[in-house]
Amino acid sequence: MRIGFIGTGMMGALMAANLVQKGYEVTGYDIVAANLEKAAAMGVKKGRSSKEVAAAADIVITMLPESKDTKSALLDTEGAAEAMKPGMIVIDMCTGSPTIAKEIAVALAARGIAYLDAPVSGGVAKASDGTLSIMASGDEEAYQACLPVLQAMGQEVFYVGQSGNGQTIKLINNMLTGINLVGICEGMVLGMKAGIDPKLLLQIINSSSGESYSSRIKIPGFVFKRNFNGGFKAKLQHKDLSLATALARELQVPVIMGAMAQQYFMAALSGGRGEEDASVIVTLLEKLTGTEVSP
Ligand code: NAD
Repeated sequence: MRIGFIGTGMMGALMAANLVQKGYEVTGYDIVAANLEKAAAMGVKKGRSSKEVAAAADIVITMLPESKDTKSALLDTEGAAEAMKPGMIVIDMCTGSPTIAKEIAVALAARGIAYLDAPVSGGVAKASDGTLSIMASGDEEAYQACLPVLQAMGQEVFYVGQSGNGQTIKLINNMLTGINLVGICEGMVLGMKAGIDPKLLLQIINSSSGESYSSRIKIPGFVFKRNFNGGFKAKLQHKDLSLATALARELQVPVIMGAMAQQYFMAALSGGRGEEDASVIVTLLEKLTGTEVSP
């Protein structure tokens, strides 16, 4: 089975590489040549446009920053859909808008193309190992046909019903990730100011009820190392909290903690740190308190 892979950034390159390892023929495309080169170094063939990779594929996977990028890569005049035949399938794996996912599903269905919104969780480590969690929704027949492809990238693969459901579940998950990250950063800064050894504090939190993905992965992996390169960009965490709070507004549900967390990541963006890992928000608190969370 031939796969066209559009968006070979932090996650996409690793996911495409897993497909290559499992024996799929993968042609990739990215607007940033250096990002496509990284995927090419892992066995992905280089395509020159979204349309070109779709023309050489049975299934098209997109792993782009936002739903508007996905919509444009698929449905613009020179987009992938132009080269796709009825019966083909698109798997959109970004974290995006449930509303736009439904719009894309309708637009592609009009061309006889099936569409799954199938966002992922697990970050670059699990993208690299092929052990992501994947929550796929949309056409169930297409889901069954794509299951081996999804299992080549993910360990836990869920079918979650009609178009948009995958994105909704993913946004709720990532709202929690953002809230947890803010919480552990506040806790670590408080500990530093109180004179507690940060390594000991983290060790105890990680074996107690304050533990979270952020405390296990983000504090030792980025904050203690004082290196915020790579990982999950602060601007993407901000995007996810914006989408989650927009969904909550639409449904008239108060998400007070989600809205507060969103402002932390907005502050990281306005400070010019949106490209760094989301845990960079700890530096905002460090500046305010004149401390550094460093072992
Ligand atoms: P990224 O910015 O590293 O990668 C996105 C890639 O898309 C970039 O290489 C960019 O050049 C490319 N791109 C943008 N517009 C394009 C277009 N029109 N055509 C072709 N290429 C285009 O982001 P990422 O970290 O890989 O995340 C991708 C998606 O996955 C996001 O929606 C993100 O929220 C989600 N996600 C990320 C993580 C993570 O830990 N990084 C985890 C789970 C989900």
